[in-house]
Amino acid sequence: MNKQLWDKAVAFHGHECPGLAIGVKACEAAMEKMQIGFSPDEEIVCVTENDACGVDAVQAILGCTLGKGNLLYRGTGKQAFSFFERKTGKKLRIYLKQQMDPGMGRAEWQEYLLNAPVDEIFSFSEPKFDLPEKAKIFPTVTCAICGEGAPEHKMRLQDGKTVCADCFKDYSRGW
Ligand SMILES: [Zn+2]
Ligand SMILES: [Zn+2]
Repeated sequence: MNKQLWDKAVAFHGHECPGLAIGVKACEAAMEKMQIGFSPDEEIVCVTENDACGVDAVQAILGCTLGKGNLLYRGTGKQAFSFFERKTGKKLRIYLKQQMDPGMGRAEWQEYLLNAPVDEIFSFSEPKFDLPEKAKIFPTVTCAICGEGAPEHKMRLQDGKTVCADCFKDYSRGW
């Protein structure tokens, strides 16, 4: 395994854990198979199918972050990450096929993950979804109720007024 990548991911994540090891190995696999590296801008897009520890490795190592809009969450809950390279159109879905042996401890599982060849722990396929659109910048609109601004596409119409998601009285639950 690449100790430098691991250290970088641990520094970002805050602790060592098997989940982070999965993310580091997924990055290693993407770098090796797609010939990609850290993304200072939006060159590389990651679609993560879980919001667990491993995503932090993707942010630290490949520079796919929520803030830059090149980290997208598609919540199937699977240990799977898809990577897209905009320039070349290359894409790869990486899925964790190995499960932790019931007799294995967490530390042992982490060691195994970090040292196993990527082909042994992951399966590789073409993502079934397309390259997401580039992050867009929407004009800011002011809410008629609270006066706070939010991007246009997040606003709702209520009694003929443009209101934000906080002020909108929805019949459905959640956000
Ligand atoms: Zn963790
Ligand atoms: Zn409001």
